[in-house]
Amino acid sequence: MPNFHHPFSTYWMKKADEWLSMIVRSIGHCEKCPKPGYWEEKSKANTGGLENHHILEKSVYLAYRYLKINSICLCTFCHTEAESDKEGFAKWLEENRSDTYIWMQQAEKSKNSIQINYQRIAEQLKAQYMELLKTSWMDTDIDVPPGVHT
Ligand SMILES: [Zn+2]
Repeated sequence: MPNFHHPFSTYWMKKADEWLSMIVRSIGHCEKCPKPGYWEEKSKANTGGLENHHILEKSVYLAYRYLKINSICLCTFCHTEAESDKEGFAKWLEENRSDTYIWMQQAEKSKNSIQINYQRIAEQLKAQYMELLKTSWMDTDIDVPPGVHT
């Protein structure tokens, strides 16, 4: 069976999600508390305890799913808290990242339903991540991202 996946398929959507998550988590610490991530020898990536939180829900606001401003690197604890207390998180944003907060207020008004070429985005994000690797402390021996929380 040929290894073909349609550019708009869930397969490429997940790939794009994973590469974006790798890029966001390469910040290396929680942007809220700010707990550091830890190195995972097995996956050779800084997956440790860090997750990509979408400020506006990725399944609702498809148009913003891959926008950097809609992403924030959070530890597992802060991520769970941000999901369960959306008002509290919005307040934190307002006080600590006002640019993001103002963007969120504007962006919230439009729930664009658009078609996304996930394959193109996945490939662009992978290339960005590979560029990041060249200028960071991270290991370069990585081809596919490990299964990650997004
Ligand atoms: Zn945290």
